Amino acid sequence: MRIVILGPSGAGKGTQAQALTKHFGLKHISTGDILREETKKESAICRAVKRLMDRGDLVPDELMLSIVEGIAAEEDHFILDGFPRTFSQSLALDAICKRIGAPIDIAISFSVPDNEIIQRIVGRLVCPKCTAMFHIHFLPPKAEGICDNCGAELIQRVDDTVDTVKRRLQLYHDLTAPVVDFYRRSGILLDINGQGDAHEITKDLIKVLEEKGLEKR
Ligand code: ADP
Repeated sequence: MRIVILGPSGAGKGTQAQALTKHFGLKHISTGDILREETKKESAICRAVKRLMDRGDLVPDELMLSIVEGIAAEEDHFILDGFPRTFSQSLALDAICKRIGAPIDIAISFSVPDNEIIQRIVGRLVCPKCTAMFHIHFLPPKAEGICDNCGAELIQRVDDTVDTVKRRLQLYHDLTAPVVDFYRRSGILLDINGQGDAHEITKDLIKVLEEKGLEKR
């Protein structure tokens, strides 16, 4: 099963993708996590990519495609989180899938109002080691500042500031909304209300995906 997960920053894509991959045994592919790993390297390109990410701008399509192309061809059961983010990326992914004869089966889109997104992002904590996500109030770790999964010290992302999230939300509405429409027209869109308790949303999602034939691997 090939799933893409869409939604603005902080809508719960990463959290839900992690919970679903754990439950169903899929592979979680987060383009944001892949890029953050890449930007740890010392090169002019990596520094340029980091600058774009830190101010909430998108990384050029060519680079994103070179990352996603290989993964889409290698993996059969995945949740792709963070891609496609522009209409041209959705067309490119569609072309790759057609070429390899393996279509995207489901696109999950999370909706959350902008004002709630800002609250969520400003309190978001991430684990730099295993990428698990928490929130100071809405999803606190068991021990303050420590990752429940691996015990590493949690951090706040450099791009999780009010100004940067406003920029990312603007880009989402301008550039990613047409991607949601693309999948709606294709008949594979699952619209999910991203407001409410994260664990409840996971339970509902598992139920819907099971009804669509997704089984544990
Ligand atoms: P979030 O979902 O919280 O916005 P991500 O971790 O998915 O964050 O992405 C972080 C940053 O990585 C984005 O703001 C952007 O700069 C870059 N990025 C990730 N995926 C893409 C993509 N498909 N196209 C362009 N840039 C991307």
